[in-house]
Amino acid sequence: MQLKDSLSGELRPVQPQQVSIYACGITPYSSAHVGHARTYVVFDLLAKVLQQQGHEVSLVRNVTDIDDKIIAAAAKEGVSWHELSQRYARENRMLMVKTGLAIPREPHASHFLEDIFKLTQALLDKGHAYVAASGDVLYRVASFDGPLLMPHKEGSLRSEQGNSRVDASGKEDLRDFALWKRAEASEVGFDSPWGWGRPGWHIECSAMISALFGGSVTIHGGGVDLKFPHHQAEIMQSEPIFGRPLADIWMHNGSVLSEGQKMSKSLGNFVTWEHALNQSDELVPGLGADLLRVSMLQAHWQKPLDWSDSLLYSTKAELLHLVQGLGSVKTQPQDLEPFIAQLSSNLNTPAAFVWLRGQHKLGNSAVVRAALDFLGVNVEGWLAFKEPSLVANAQLIELLQAQRAQARQDKDWARSDELREQLRALGAEVQDTPTRRQSNLQ
Ligand SMILES: [Zn+2]
Repeated sequence: MQLKDSLSGELRPVQPQQVSIYACGITPYSSAHVGHARTYVVFDLLAKVLQQQGHEVSLVRNVTDIDDKIIAAAAKEGVSWHELSQRYARENRMLMVKTGLAIPREPHASHFLEDIFKLTQALLDKGHAYVAASGDVLYRVASFDGPLLMPHKEGSLRSEQGNSRVDASGKEDLRDFALWKRAEASEVGFDSPWGWGRPGWHIECSAMISALFGGSVTIHGGGVDLKFPHHQAEIMQSEPIFGRPLADIWMHNGSVLSEGQKMSKSLGNFVTWEHALNQSDELVPGLGADLLRVSMLQAHWQKPLDWSDSLLYSTKAELLHLVQGLGSVKTQPQDLEPFIAQLSSNLNTPAAFVWLRGQHKLGNSAVVRAALDFLGVNVEGWLAFKEPSLVANAQLIELLQAQRAQARQDKDWARSDELREQLRALGAEVQDTPTRRQSNLQ
């Protein structure tokens, strides 16, 4: 497998036998949206392809369960931060199951406080951090001179200015960010060597990677929004301590648009994961999870994906087309190899689907079947699928035809004519028998 690394911009081979993947997960304070779903679908497929290629894969998706947004949302509802974050983390796992995704290892940040303290102390000891007058422990951005995902300049000013809990006056440099934020005794917090407070978001991921993988991973990823400042900060925190790159390969998947526009709560075009699943299931009852997953793979993972009705319709048509003729097809393990080879070039799913359509056209049914099985597509289900409206219509047509036969037997011609119009409106052919024609002559 070769993947495009966001840090170097190069295609890089995935080399080790044991592959560790750390994909940044949710902050559970509200329902997940289609953007989360896409990240999960992409990393789920990546793990499956690597496993198919013989790698041992450990996929981790953290849950950022200590966060100001969780605390604010919990206070608004009058519940504890723990209860609220557990609820949304559980909901998120249910969505993964409903979407047909494997549940990865899900470490919760709140279980790693000791590792956060250890890493923060190590950064203080090495001069990469300092305790500001405010009591916050801040990262000294100027102390880092390694390669970065983005220049750590103005963006950091904006992001930190938005964080009212860090007192900018205590900073040596406006770019510096918090590793530990002091809190009032009345606020939600934890005891630490630096007093009552809460960890910064970025240090949570560095600490979890340290605890679970010894400080670095094969592939680190998440949505493109996480590149800066989150992943950049993780690099700056981890690399001076562990003395090696935090990740061999950085993977940032593109965002999800809604009908061509950036999704936002203020525009009212925000699509939750659950809504997307329901939308998919309405189009193909019982097969919505397949439709959602395959729709998410229609754009290259590095590019934006436009979530729209037409995406769902075209994916549905594609799947209905691809399953044709696969009912009794038996496959051999080697039938999957060419599809895996397609995907191993930077997980290029749109190109792999174009190739798959070509295979279907050539009649290479075993290859197509093996690929769809690998993607978790319920081939039998899709083959048996009938348009729900047509199924409903067929029953209605049968009923109206029976009523019309009865009306004609009763020589109720007005009723018979009315029923004929109703049947025609439903697209049903109405053939009058000679009896009826005779009746017309009467
Ligand atoms: Zn993270």
